[in-house]
Parts: sequence; structure tokens; C-alpha cells
Amino acid sequence: MELLHSLAAGIVPPLCAACGRNCRPRASLCTHCSRRLAEADSLAGGAPGLDRAWSSAPHEGVARDLVAALKFRRLLPVAELAADRILWLAPAALLSGSVVPVPTARLRSAARGFDPAAEIAQALAGRADLSLQPCLRRKGGGRQVGKRRADRVGRPPLIATRGEVPRSVLLIDDVMTTGATLSACASALRQSGAVRVTAITFTRRL
Ligand SMILES: [Zn+2]
Repeated sequence: MELLHSLAAGIVPPLCAACGRNCRPRASLCTHCSRRLAEADSLAGGAPGLDRAWSSAPHEGVARDLVAALKFRRLLPVAELAADRILWLAPAALLSGSVVPVPTARLRSAARGFDPAAEIAQALAGRADLSLQPCLRRKGGGRQVGKRRADRVGRPPLIATRGEVPRSVLLIDDVMTTGATLSACASALRQSGAVRVTAITFTRRL
């Protein structure tokens, strides 16, 4: 099995998820991009309704390329890489509570076949030994193009809870832009009984 793995890796060398160059077997990033990502500083921040927020890197360079790879090229190992970085760098106090992914707008998610926030949340919950509780959903359909623009200009999406809501929640998203989406999630969670709501995102737009 190991031999087959090596042979396959030899025939088709893996490509860096950020720049597309060849990289070492079973690696998601080439040495160059790996080093650049390691140099990116994490960011503490906040948004109304959140007790605390933290992002593992600014939304630029390799980190931004990785989000694009996850979203548009469905490179799932990138979700694991994002979870590893979060686990390595996030303040220990933030890695508690139940992991709740920020819900992606339904049509966008369906078009891509998966949900980046959910993938990162699942990888992180597994690694940090936290429970995963996808208890949020977006309300209403509407025109998704308009919705994306609404997200960008900071108009909050309509968020509702489903099922049981944990008292302590760690929201996970791939990118934090204005914080409006995280605030809308926090508001819905608190209305359903959450008393502590924190958030971690892989990147944050500055
Ligand atoms: Zn690279």
C-alpha cells in the first residue's frame, strides 16, 4: 500500500494548493508558500455580539489563495491545513465550546457541492476534540448574487437556529469580512440560549 502510494506520488507529483508548483509528496503547499504562510500574523478582533474573535491570517497572499482553492477548486486538504494552522496558533482559551460552522448561502453551497466553513469546522472539531454542532441555517432563498453583495457591504444575512443550541459556541468561518455575518449568527444563537459566543476564521479581510 505504501509502495503504491509512493509510486502514485512519483507519477503524479502533488501540486501546491496556493501557487500550483510541484511540492513534496502528500504536502498541500510547496516550501516557498509554506514559509510565506508561516510568516503571516494572526489577528485578534471582534464584532458586535461576539465575546471574542480571532483570525489566523490576513486575507492576502498564500492565505487568500488557499481560501480560493477551497472555495472554487474544492481542494479539501486545504480545510485540514486551515484547521491545523488554527489549532497551532489560536489562543488556547478560544478552542473551547461547541464548534458551529457559519452557514453558507444555500445556492452557492449547492453549486460548489460542499461548504468551506463546514469543512474547516469539521476538521477543527476532530483535531481539537470538540463537539461539532451545525445548528445554524440561512433563512430564505432570494437572489444569491444580491446576497453575496449584501454580505460584502455588511448587510447581515438572515440566520436561524435549528435543533439544540449549545451554551458555549465557537463559530467557524473561512473568511471574516465586516463581521456582519458573525454578528447575525451570534444574535440568533443568543436568542436561542447561547451565553458565550466566540469566533475563529481562517482569514480576515483588512
Ligand atoms: Zn506554492
